[in-house]
Amino acid sequence: MKKVILITGASRGIGAEAALLASRKGYHVCLNYCSNKEAADSVIKTIEDEGGSGIAIQADISKEDEVDLLFSTMDRKFGRLDALVNNAGILESQMELTEMSAARIKKIFETNVFGSFYCTQRAITRMALKHGGTGGSIVNVSSVASRTGSPFEYIDYASSKGAIDTFTIGLSKEIASQGIRVNAVRPGFIYTDIHACGGDADRVDKLRDHIPMKRGGYPEEVAAAILWLLSEEASYVSGSFIEIAGGR
Ligand code: NAD
Repeated sequence: MKKVILITGASRGIGAEAALLASRKGYHVCLNYCSNKEAADSVIKTIEDEGGSGIAIQADISKEDEVDLLFSTMDRKFGRLDALVNNAGILESQMELTEMSAARIKKIFETNVFGSFYCTQRAITRMALKHGGTGGSIVNVSSVASRTGSPFEYIDYASSKGAIDTFTIGLSKEIASQGIRVNAVRPGFIYTDIHACGGDADRVDKLRDHIPMKRGGYPEEVAAAILWLLSEEASYVSGSFIEIAGGR
């Protein structure tokens, strides 16, 4: 039976590349997007043109009721779930902590942390052996910022990714007996539009000298690690992290 994967925030960037690669590896793809239907439909069209199958489902993952709708739509379409990639995330512009508004900090955590919690809760009730599932695999998209802390820049974002790291470690232990593996990737500077959201679209190129390999990474390089962690080749890997950061 063909496996089903749900990838959040997958209309562009790392999520879109993970969706394309997942389809090439034989998954039915449930592609979540927040607002850009056109971009999401275009990823699904590429999947279908290549002979795969997928569905794009709108939901703001920071809102619990929308996450419920996302999962019920997925249930109606595919009736099962084997893999979840908690990819959706936001970054805001560069700023010191004392300048950050409460609204900004709240939004970062609601999207990057709460959204992953909401999706994962619902994924577990579909995958866990004790809930009648057949097991599965979860990959969280963290960041090298969880370890560097991004001081004087994006400390809210870095802290939210630190929470994702702890979530990954704790959850991998909590649900190991349920046939579910939980891992994370920590990308470094990857060429995607997230840096424009952070107010500095050229950030990756500006920081090239701080990267041992002297180049930014590509979404495809992160997608490859995500799909490996999800695969049977990683069957004894859980609670682990892969840095995709050019040696950083
Ligand atoms: P991106 O901005 O292209 O993609 C992020 C996606 O998340 C977008 O499609 C966006 O619409 C979606 N999203 C945001 N809020 C959402 C919400 N509330 N509900 C649903 N979807 C939502 O950037 P990306 O680089 O592809 O980011 C993917 C992940 O990789 C993020 O978690 C990001 O923090 C992480 N990451 C990226 C880098 C990098 O350098 N690009 C580095 C480390 C970690």
